[in-house]
Amino acid sequence: MPIYEYRCNQCSREFSELLLNPKETKKVRCKYCHSPSLTRLVSSFSVHQTEGSRLADFDTSKPRGNEFYKDSRNIGLWAKKRMKELGVDLGSKMDEIVEKGRTGKILDEYDK
Ligand SMILES: [Zn+2]
Repeated sequence: MPIYEYRCNQCSREFSELLLNPKETKKVRCKYCHSPSLTRLVSSFSVHQTEGSRLADFDTSKPRGNEFYKDSRNIGLWAKKRMKELGVDLGSKMDEIVEKGRTGKILDEYDK
């Protein structure tokens, strides 16, 4: 299922929207101020929502505390490694996702 993320051009807040039909993207409005003026961000983090990938994460024996994440390079490496281990081929999206991780967004997703 595609999850689209948007940044509102009106209030600058970000939110994600689950869309079953790609045509519905035109109907999306800001969840906070209902502005139709939105910028679409990196799409689809649904791969992280599966129970399988969450379980796989727990099996990672390497400790990853706050110190680890303070180095943004570690986040990128970890994400790439995990994706590979999970057999996920995101192609060119990988760089976008890593970039996302380096701004802390991947951690946000995992906390949910
Ligand atoms: Zn807004």
